[in-house]
Amino acid sequence: MSTLVWFRDDLRLADHPALAAASRARDGIVALYVLDEVSPGVRPLGGAARWWLHASLSRLRAALAERGIPLILRRGSAETVVPAVVSECGAEQVTWNRRYGAERHGDARLKQALRDSRIDVRSFPGGLLFEPWRIATRAGEPYRVYSAFWRACLSAPDPPALPLPEPESLRAGPRRPASDDLEEWGLRPTAPDWAAGIAERWSPGEAEASARLRRFLARDPSAYPLGRDLPASRAGSDLSPHLRWGEISPRTVWHRSLESGGDVGEFLSELGWREFAWHTAFHRPDLHLRGIDARFDAFPWREPGADDLSAWRRGETGFPLVDAGMRELWRTGFMHNRVRMVAASFLTKNLLIDWRVGEAWFWDTLVDADAASNPFNWQWVAGCGADAAPYFRIFNPLTQQRRFDPEGEYVDRWAPDSLLRPEIVDLRISRARALAAYDSVRYGAEAPAPAQGPSET
Ligand SMILES: Cc1cc2nc3c(=O)[nH]c(=O)nc-3n(C[C@H](O)[C@H](O)[C@H](O)COP(=O)(O)OP(=O)(O)OC[C@H]3O[C@@H](n4cnc5c(N)ncnc54)[C@H](O)[C@@H]3O)c2cc1C
Repeated sequence: MSTLVWFRDDLRLADHPALAAASRARDGIVALYVLDEVSPGVRPLGGAARWWLHASLSRLRAALAERGIPLILRRGSAETVVPAVVSECGAEQVTWNRRYGAERHGDARLKQALRDSRIDVRSFPGGLLFEPWRIATRAGEPYRVYSAFWRACLSAPDPPALPLPEPESLRAGPRRPASDDLEEWGLRPTAPDWAAGIAERWSPGEAEASARLRRFLARDPSAYPLGRDLPASRAGSDLSPHLRWGEISPRTVWHRSLESGGDVGEFLSELGWREFAWHTAFHRPDLHLRGIDARFDAFPWREPGADDLSAWRRGETGFPLVDAGMRELWRTGFMHNRVRMVAASFLTKNLLIDWRVGEAWFWDTLVDADAASNPFNWQWVAGCGADAAPYFRIFNPLTQQRRFDPEGEYVDRWAPDSLLRPEIVDLRISRARALAAYDSVRYGAEAPAPAQGPSET
């Protein structure tokens, strides 16, 4: 009996339960990746993500080839492609690691259709630490507050399982279906090559993901809690794109971190935010389309003017920390977390532009663009998400710059000219305008603003 392993957001060989299960197949395995940009619930990838996917697939293909397994590439609707490949290779079993966003409905239909054709289908947990249906309040509801959520995770009866080793040996199935040519998928830009800065900064693939984790854990863990807020320090693990593409599993990160013996609580709680974002997306698969707080449906966003939106995208707002972040993003496909918060607050509050516009830009430009973490965090900043920042929390980009880039190192690196640019908006006036808009959704347009003055962070 041969088994088809369907790779999705899990482009690795270690701690890959679907591959581990398939490695026991009598007649060997067939490895498949489907580029599906057409099925309902699938959000077509942004440019930076496509770049990453190309590199990651070629690394996975090479790693599988070393073990004698070809990676079959196909394009189209998974619900059509997977059964076609199953019949081409005569597989009697299909395995995959679960997905938790809107695509899972298609996965469920496919599972049923294959089972109806007497194919044995098995799905496994692989992308999260905890299955979303296992973490719930006493009333059986999803958590809305992060601290309670993470406490529940930490005391869950089933802690994250130990990561599985890479299968000792793999054997290819007897039939080898045809594969598309990765180059022909056109995932990488041709001229102009806007991805040169991304290629300089990042090296996709499982080997680099493990090496990054090792380097991160070899550093002094006590520097992380403070350093992670300083964009010039590069104290973060830089694991987010590797986790996004499943080049390393969160279980591996979890267990290796604990084994390191350092004080990794704060680092693991960041992994907890990833978990919280995904559990939220599991219950709200339309996370990138609608605020969790329905009152925000009526929020009076401004129609973005061509000038202010493009100044934000290009990093030409005259606010150096925002500009530095937006240019880091454009050049490298990444932006430091603190700066993401400041740039997102600036767009949604000072420019009063809909968070979905910013979310879409990040979706297109981030190498770690993630269907849960990106909309979740945008909603958090905008004030309409789960456990969101209070609506009156409007980051002052100048104060943030003084606190988190006091020597100006980060700004000097990415946007030194921004210091001389005119500011595109008056912070005091735009802040008052945002507060009035937020009051109108909280209390209704007629109600008075709260007597207590809001704080500025
Ligand atoms: C507006 C906005 C958009 C964002 N979009 C994304 C996104 O598309 N993809 C993404 O992975 N992260 C996103 N984040 C979260 C965060 O900025 C990145 O995960 C972090 O910068 C990655 O750097 P790191 O790997 O060095 O993190 P570390 O500090 O080393 O943290 C370890 C891991 O924890 C996870 N993590 C950390 N912070 C968060 C968070 N706030 N939410 C969810 N997971 C987190 C990441 O997987 C990260 O790799 C966004 C944050 C904001 C404010």
